[in-house]
Amino acid sequence: MTTIFIISAPSGSGKSTLVNKVRQTVPHLEFSISYTTRPPRGNEKNGCEYFFISRDEFEQMIREDEFLEYARVFEYDYYGTARRFLQKAEQEASDLLLDIDVQGAAQIKARLPEAVSVFILPPNRAELERRLRERSQDSEPVIQKRLKAARREIENYQKYDYILVNDRLQDSVETLKAILLSERLRRNGRPDAGLSARAESCRLEHIRERIQPILHSFADTAASGQ
Ligand code: ADP
Ligand code: 5GP
Repeated sequence: MTTIFIISAPSGSGKSTLVNKVRQTVPHLEFSISYTTRPPRGNEKNGCEYFFISRDEFEQMIREDEFLEYARVFEYDYYGTARRFLQKAEQEASDLLLDIDVQGAAQIKARLPEAVSVFILPPNRAELERRLRERSQDSEPVIQKRLKAARREIENYQKYDYILVNDRLQDSVETLKAILLSERLRRNGRPDAGLSARAESCRLEHIRERIQPILHSFADTAASGQ
């Protein structure tokens, strides 16, 4: 049986870094390459990070019901997950990892409630800003746009099954692996107590106190109009 894992995070939290590391070590895990109408950035190549298509092509795929979910992200560009990635994962008896935004995550959860969702948070707003700058991929106005969007996205954290604070990278990689593997083993009737305990530490009821200061670091900037 294929389990869908949804990963969402404000841009710059380290989601791609974590997903890339986990994909290298967890077997039988397919990754869905999304379609988007946004242009490629930096070294991005068609068919690698995304399939880059025109708006007309995207709308044609919508009409032909080729998407499992799709959304307009950052108010302009379309992003969508093709159904065929789920079919492929099912044929190969693999799990499927989706890197999608909060709107897409809500659509998948509504259709396929057994999907497992993970929200990745940065340790605080200042660190998110530092990571966005360190990545040196975006212009200053784009960084500001992403920080504003982060504040809105973070409000959705409670809708996710697991919340992972990406502070120390290696710890986060191990915790994300524990979530994927513990869910897989439990669904296969072979639960692992150690992995489950690590995954359970990311449930809202266990992490509520830890995330309060993170939420405050974003709320403070809202009050000061940043
Ligand atoms: P996202 O995919 O969420 O937009 P990236 O994976 O591109 O974010 O990470 C943004 C930047 O933060 C990158 O330069 C990456 O190397 C760095 N980064 C990711 N995780 C950590 C971490 N735990 N500690 C410090 N830096 C990190
Ligand atoms: P970026 O342009 O920085 O690569 O991605 C912007 C946002 O779009 C990220 O939050 C990413 O998770 C989201 N995204 C990427 N692919 C999809 C998709 O197929 N569907 C949805 N709903 N969001 C996506």
